[in-house]
This record gives sequence, structure tokens and C-alpha cells, in this order.
Amino acid sequence: MATESSPEPSREGMLPPPSRVGAVVPAAGRGERLPGAAPKQFRPLGGIPLIWHSLYRLAQSGAVGSIVLVVPPGSLGAFVLPKDTGLPVQATEGGARRQDSVEKGLLALPPEAEWVVVHDGARPLLPPALVRACLEGALETGASLAALPVSDTVKRGGAGGFAEGTVSRDGLWLAQTPQVARRELLAKALRAAREEGREGTDEAALLEAIGVRVRLVPGDPINLKVTCPQDLALAEAYLALSKGGGSA
Ligand code: C5P
Repeated sequence: MATESSPEPSREGMLPPPSRVGAVVPAAGRGERLPGAAPKQFRPLGGIPLIWHSLYRLAQSGAVGSIVLVVPPGSLGAFVLPKDTGLPVQATEGGARRQDSVEKGLLALPPEAEWVVVHDGARPLLPPALVRACLEGALETGASLAALPVSDTVKRGGAGGFAEGTVSRDGLWLAQTPQVARRELLAKALRAAREEGREGTDEAALLEAIGVRVRLVPGDPINLKVTCPQDLALAEAYLALSKGGGSA
């Protein structure tokens, strides 16, 4: 996807070795916008549990050496992990907010993981190449995130359900995951947020709050977050397309 900035020189050859990179997959949300008997993480997608897709795709990137899956408190026994990712995968219990879940996941990573790739368990269609692009994007300042430039017109809603204004979309991006950071920076950002009572809906917000410059890496519309039943249907369609030779 094109960006407005001039192309950066490739640092692909400078990526840290996979043994130094750990992935944390927060999947401890209650998924209340996707009603059903099972939490959305357990729902089948393409014939396997939705959450497995993220694990396989992180492994396929070839850029990470271990994965920690963060599951809802009290559900550790209910999660079956895939055995054929080729990487050590372990599960740990999360917390009340996403940032609490990520902080717990971070604690479970092996000590040699100096870099952390955080990827939402609810984004099963992660393009494996995006993991490498985000790692590369993080090399300069220690942090990056995948994001999409806003292409729709943005309205501010006001009282009574009327548009109150139109917000310029210039320079606006929609945050996705992966979000990559040096482990020490992410740990510091999470600790500062906890101590100062700050809440962030992504890691980048917490890193920005302690002054870290977070590189925007062009994401992919296919890397959607499964939130509502329509997203699940769309994800199934993308998967079917990829099996038929498409690019999802
Ligand atoms: O909050 P949001 O819907 O953006 O959730 C993004 C990801 O964070 C999901 O994969 C969700 O399961 C996870 N999450 C978590 N712990 C929470 C809340 C959300 O791991 N307490």
C-alpha cells in the first residue's frame, strides 16, 4: 500500500534473530459484540479455532521465536493450543483491560526476547509479511505499529444523533496490530500507565505517552478485527478466496 512519505531504505537484513523476538497475543476480551455459545476466540474459522490463525501466521512470518497467548481469566483449561506451529506456544491468563492482558503476557515471554510483537487474537488474517515489516519499522526508535490511512470522511456525532462537524482525515490513521516494541520500552510504558492510571486501547498510545516515537507501518485491510458477526462472515470469505488462489 502506498504512503505519502518517501520510501525508507530497507533494513530487512538487520532484523533481530527470531530467538530475540517474542509474540504476545491478547485474546482475553469477552467479545460481547459477537454473541454466541462460545467466546469468539473459540469459534471455528476455516475449520479451526479462530485464535489459531494468528498463532500460525505469526509462526509463518519466520520472525518470532516464541508466542504467549493471553486468555480470559479462569479459562486456561479450556484453551487447546495447536501443536504444529513449530514454535513454543504457551497460554497465560489476562486481566480486566487489554493493557493488563499484554502486561501479563509480557511477563511470560522468555528472558531472551528483547523485542515484542503484540498481535490481537481477534485479527486472524494477519499477513505474515506484515510482522517483518513492523519489526523493520521499529528498528529506528524501538516501536512501530501497523495502521491504515483513513479513507472515509470523518464526522463527529453530536446530540440527538446529528453530525456536529467534519474532521479532516489528513494525517489520520486507523491502528491495527502488529504493534512492535523493544521489550524494555513496552514494559516501561505499561508500568507507567498502571502507576499513573492511564488507559490506552493499544500499545502505541501507552508508548507515545512516555515519549516514544512510534513508526507507522502501512497495514492491510485484510487484517481485520473480528468484532461482530459480519466480520466473521467476511473473514470466512477472505479465507475461502485465499484457498482459491486469492491473496488473503
Ligand atoms: O478491546 P479490543 O476489542 O480492541 O480487543 C483487542 C484484543 O485485545 C482482542 O483480541 C481481545 O481479546 C484482547 N483483550 C484482552 N484482554 C482484555 C480485553 C481485550 O486480551 N481485557
